[in-house]
Amino acid sequence: MSSTPETTYNAFFCPHCEATLNLGHGPIIKMTGKLDAATFSVTTDVFLPSGLGVYGRATATNVELREGARVEFSCPDCGAPLSRSEDDELAQVGMRDQEDRVFLVSFNKCYGKQSTFVIDPEARQVESQFGDDAESFREDLDKRMNFFGS
Ligand SMILES: [Zn+2]
Repeated sequence: MSSTPETTYNAFFCPHCEATLNLGHGPIIKMTGKLDAATFSVTTDVFLPSGLGVYGRATATNVELREGARVEFSCPDCGAPLSRSEDDELAQVGMRDQEDRVFLVSFNKCYGKQSTFVIDPEARQVESQFGDDAESFREDLDKRMNFFGS
């Protein structure tokens, strides 16, 4: 991978309004997350590391994410959902790399799972995948890939 010395991180953005999700193209991606339980739901800022294949989530409030908690992500700027539907196991954001190429990055909504996919939206193919659980999400992703461009 080539990179320019002054930028270390890729730029992540909302695919709807193109708002930058990692401030200053830094190491932290900020999104809005909604957690649903049987009797209540809570919305909070959720922070993810912007490094591909780096895992960990934190919330702005004292909401504790437990293993298996499912988070519905949305854009903090325009409020649009960052996934195709709530049935999808994967959320997605836009990514512009240091060579100015644009990709979609998909990651699982379920806390504790580790899967990230970098997708070339034009070639409709997975450029790279990260995380121990990537294989188990691949089927869901391939299903979704069929919808690209349709
Ligand atoms: Zn947006």
